[in-house]
Amino acid sequence: MPTLDFTPLPFGAAQLPEPAVKDCTKCGQTLPLESFSPAKKGHLGRTSQCKPCADHNLSKGAKDPYAYALELYPWLADTTR
Ligand SMILES: [Zn+2]
Repeated sequence: MPTLDFTPLPFGAAQLPEPAVKDCTKCGQTLPLESFSPAKKGHLGRTSQCKPCADHNLSKGAKDPYAYALELYPWLADTTR
């Protein structure tokens, strides 16, 4: 009787590909690459600061970069604790 060389993964494991992410040097959050503006000299070809932080630098009106990031990326509230 043949045996299957197969170990079932826990449900939900290895289902989603790991997204390309990068740490923002400003707010320290780990965000997907699309959250960073393209920059040829930047690490992974992106700027070192995420778009909310870059916007925050430009517009002094924005109060809290993290709160602003949550506005743009509401799902962050589920991934950060
Ligand atoms: Zn940031």
